[in-house]
Amino acid sequence: MTNLAEIFSAPFNWCDRRCERCPLSRDCPVWRADSQRRWVNAAHGGDPDDWDVVPEDVAEDMRAALGQLLDIAAAEGIDLDTPLPPARIVLDAVKLRRAGTALATSIAELGESVAPAAKRDELVRTATVLGLKATRIASYLSDVRPSDAWDADAVPNVLLVELLIRQVREGLVLTPAGEPAMRALEELNRIIEPLLARLDRPRALLGKLVERRCAFAVLYRRIEMKLDLSRPIGTSHRRGTGRAQ
Ligand code: SF4
Repeated sequence: MTNLAEIFSAPFNWCDRRCERCPLSRDCPVWRADSQRRWVNAAHGGDPDDWDVVPEDVAEDMRAALGQLLDIAAAEGIDLDTPLPPARIVLDAVKLRRAGTALATSIAELGESVAPAAKRDELVRTATVLGLKATRIASYLSDVRPSDAWDADAVPNVLLVELLIRQVREGLVLTPAGEPAMRALEELNRIIEPLLARLDRPRALLGKLVERRCAFAVLYRRIEMKLDLSRPIGTSHRRGTGRAQ
């Protein structure tokens, strides 16, 4: 298995590129490079959000990524002109994608039945991230991917999905109109559970990595504490104690 401590410490391997909301941006080289480019644009009197500028920045990143891929392919003797084998249809991958989409859609449709608005917004945001992560994980169920790709991307995301499922369930449990969303959530959970059962080692590693201030482990612990996983679902926090009321 790949060095998980190394992978977990490089959040840009497994994140969703939601940099504006990212608690890890301060230590992230991707964010630093992006901020630096914006700064240079602004220093030259430009607007980094100008739609004449943004596509060229994206194109520059794509060119750099493509160059790296070509170098790796050449180094590993991979012929990029070889046609890909036909994609295998994996039922769980199809169901996981569908469940992610169904969840995000049904939560968006709940509208004002979830109150207050701040709770609704949080629920929609969390379900959207969960839906995206489900789609991402599904791609590992459909393709024959090397194990280091599974470790680098799927493992941290499956662990995060477990927490996100819990978070969405918390938001839905007291929402009478939330039944369709809850069904989609449980379908998603049913597919994720066997994947989680394969992650005993990374899970056991998380405690040690928190002490080493590893980015993923710290983020995971922060979400875990926010959810207070020892607490029965549907009970609320007593502010400041983290205990169930
Ligand atoms: S700041 Fe880095 S880790 Fe955070 S979302 Fe952006 S690329 Fe990912």
